Amino acid sequence: MDDETKEISGYIHNVLPLKGSKSTYFDMVVQTKTDVYRAVCFSPKKHQDLQLKSNAKSPVKISNYKVEKTNTSTTILLNNTMKAEDTNVDFPAKPIPPTNNIASLMGAHYQQLVTITAKVTQLGGTKKVSTRSGLKEKAECYLVDPSGSIKLIFSLFYLWESLIQEVQDGKTYTFNNLRVLKEYNTEKLALGTTMDSKTDMAPQFDQPLAHPLELSDSFTKCTAVAEIVGINTFGQYHSCRNCNKKIPEDSFTGAIVKCPNCKVAQKKDRCLTRCFVQAITQLNTTSKVTVTLFHEQIQEVFSLLGRPESLEENDVTLALLDCPLLDIVYDNKSKIVSQVSFHPE
Ligand SMILES: [Zn+2]
Repeated sequence: MDDETKEISGYIHNVLPLKGSKSTYFDMVVQTKTDVYRAVCFSPKKHQDLQLKSNAKSPVKISNYKVEKTNTSTTILLNNTMKAEDTNVDFPAKPIPPTNNIASLMGAHYQQLVTITAKVTQLGGTKKVSTRSGLKEKAECYLVDPSGSIKLIFSLFYLWESLIQEVQDGKTYTFNNLRVLKEYNTEKLALGTTMDSKTDMAPQFDQPLAHPLELSDSFTKCTAVAEIVGINTFGQYHSCRNCNKKIPEDSFTGAIVKCPNCKVAQKKDRCLTRCFVQAITQLNTTSKVTVTLFHEQIQEVFSLLGRPESLEENDVTLALLDCPLLDIVYDNKSKIVSQVSFHPE
């Protein structure tokens, strides 16, 4: 992903109409084998072709792109020189929700303006908050739609108090011109109204809604610079030869075990042995958090250090404690680390 000379293969989804005062750019979503990215193309003449490829759900190989990374998002930037050629891939196109829902905000930029239709839940009382720009009235709620949920922070100048009054708990609205914000302290993305925001009543959703606390992935994934201070727990487990998921030890009652995840029966002594650790880490030089690293990330550490892979407690402990500063991506709720790399010096 990092190198401009590389290429990515996957599917194009949700090519949006041209935007900008001179219709100079458009948004779309690129689905690779492992990830989903927001892509912005600054070449209007590519619009039609990419739209056709998106409609046809035919896999493409994209080259000559740039990548813009922030703490919370990765965006693919495309211009005139980009190429999208037909190719073959070994994974299917998956349904990507249209961009006006909560899950699709995964690719949203900090400070970006968005329009979204969602139901208001858990609307709290109005508080007066003094800010650098004067006294503001603020109310908090969650927004939910069938794809996910997000905490919405109403943050208004007192002149705009009326907008808080326009919104009722349990009703569905289309919110125009919300701004993507970072929550104070946590760096989690949130949405806030702005002076230009407008709300319109919208029909209730027919589909089941997400639970307000089930935040979509992008809102629970955090990045941090981590120093591993110590190891709490080391453990080994067995994983499925087919799907790689953990097989709980109590599933092994005989010589044959059926994977609870993919239901494939296999011989117990041929299942893969894996390891995991719980490590106390100092994040961003301030807070200590215990995170869990599973086999893949542990083996990645061995490979970063140039050491042979091992499942032994001593080797694993030593490798983790020998690590320089790491850049990690972890889930804010489960504290499971999903990506690890050396932090550039
Ligand atoms: Zn399995």
